[in-house]
Amino acid sequence: PLAKLGRWTHSSRWLTVFNLTCVAGLCSVSALMLWDMREDATQRTEITSRSLLQVLERDIARNIELYDLSLQAVVDGMKRPDVARAAPELRHMILFDRSATGLGFGFIMVLNATGDVVLNSQSVAPRVLNRADGEYFQYFAAHNDDGLHISPPAISRLTGKWVVMMSRRLSNPDGSFAGVVAGAIHLDYFRGLFAAAGVARIGTVTLYGPGGSILMREPFDQQLLGESVANQPSYQRILTRQKGSFVGPAMVGEGERRFVFTHVGDQPLQLSTAIPPADIYADWWQKALALGGTVLALCGATIGLTWLFRCELDRRRAAEVATIALNVELELLATTDGLTGLSNRRSFDEVLAREWSRAVRTSQPLSLILLDADSFKGFNDRYGHQRGDEALKLIARAIEPVIGRSGDTGYRVGGEEFAVILPDTDKEGARIVASRIQQAVPGWKLPHASSNHAVLTVSCGLAQIPEAVAMEPAGLFRAADAALYEAKRSGRNCVRVSGSVSPDLRLVIG
Ligand code: GH3
Ligand code: MG
Ligand code: MG
Repeated sequence: PLAKLGRWTHSSRWLTVFNLTCVAGLCSVSALMLWDMREDATQRTEITSRSLLQVLERDIARNIELYDLSLQAVVDGMKRPDVARAAPELRHMILFDRSATGLGFGFIMVLNATGDVVLNSQSVAPRVLNRADGEYFQYFAAHNDDGLHISPPAISRLTGKWVVMMSRRLSNPDGSFAGVVAGAIHLDYFRGLFAAAGVARIGTVTLYGPGGSILMREPFDQQLLGESVANQPSYQRILTRQKGSFVGPAMVGEGERRFVFTHVGDQPLQLSTAIPPADIYADWWQKALALGGTVLALCGATIGLTWLFRCELDRRRAAEVATIALNVELELLATTDGLTGLSNRRSFDEVLAREWSRAVRTSQPLSLILLDADSFKGFNDRYGHQRGDEALKLIARAIEPVIGRSGDTGYRVGGEEFAVILPDTDKEGARIVASRIQQAVPGWKLPHASSNHAVLTVSCGLAQIPEAVAMEPAGLFRAADAALYEAKRSGRNCVRVSGSVSPDLRLVIG
């Protein structure tokens, strides 16, 4: 039964380990999957943003180039003396006819070295205006720059709309400053471009101009046009590289944004998309909650069931332990004499049969001592049954110390009858043990007025294999009993040993 207990503990432990491993595995795989899905969401946003930015960038760069070509055409025309001499209408036609007009491009004007508007694409006879205070004019007055210059956005004094000025320098043959050719791009042009790209799905899209000013933003916000974000850390990060992506603080509003950005060709213009992480992962969160919830519920159920199962196993195990303990106790009760604590008759019969077989099989000696309280009926009659019981306990106490050797066992086999089985013990050894008990009992000096010996005494009969030849254990018992009868007949309080011939045979011979 103990082996069974061990097996239960073992299988319960393995079951727990196996289930917990499964739970851990399931959780890890799910976590990996969720992480992968999250990365996917980031990637998708990045790819969508990047392709959008690419379309916008190409469009803007190409149109700036077109417009720049128009400015260059005016610059080239202005250098020709024949153009300068031509009639105003003709000159107007020559200079401005090739200029790009659609696509949100506004007027082109030519300023002289003092900032006066000398030509304007919108009318043959320009209004009298001076633009010496224009950023582009002051830039070219100070810089001998052959390239295109793009100015920060400003509200056009001519149209009242937001424009970005693009300009080129006019130089005299000697290289000195002769004026500026300047053209305006309406910011509305960008607005159309952004809207057409269907950009609303990708957070906010912003075009930054020179000096970090916002040229356009989708979703559109009039208030933000021309606002400078030059000091924003996220904008400064955009300036460090041609293109890339990063997570940084929002430039407009609160919180974090994932930025994807690119510069527009060689121009001082940048494009970026900015999405709050919450928007990127909104879908992912839904899936993560559904999947995570399911996995957690499954794991919880598995752990719960494992726990319940363990509890049940533990309960059964405890019941089994209790049963075993009960059985041990019952067995003890069944084989023990209640009064003296010695083993009882049932146990005696079992052990005698077992030892007898063993002795016959191994040809080892086996001794049996039977003891009987002398004139015990008289003791009971005189002192009462209670005192009689006490006396029986005393006899048991006398037997116990002499059977200390392992294998020797003592029994109460009847009312006032006891027995001792001594395996592997020959006649002499057994006689010594019997004499010790027989002498120990009167040593208690328990008064016994009805006995010739005046104190409580016992008689002992002894028989052994091989002398007591018998075909069964009962034969050995009968031989010892006969010896005991001899002891009684010899006056009691003595030990008698059975002869080498069994009483049965003696009976036959006699
Ligand atoms: P003998 O010396 O020949 O053995 O005489 P005896 O009186 O002992 O023999 P007998 O077999 O006639 O009497 C046995 C007595 O033992 C009978 C009974 O009163 C007593 N006895 C048997 N069992 C118990 C017991 O459990 N408790 C008590 N107190 N007395 C018992
Ligand atoms: Mg008797
Ligand atoms: Mg007796």
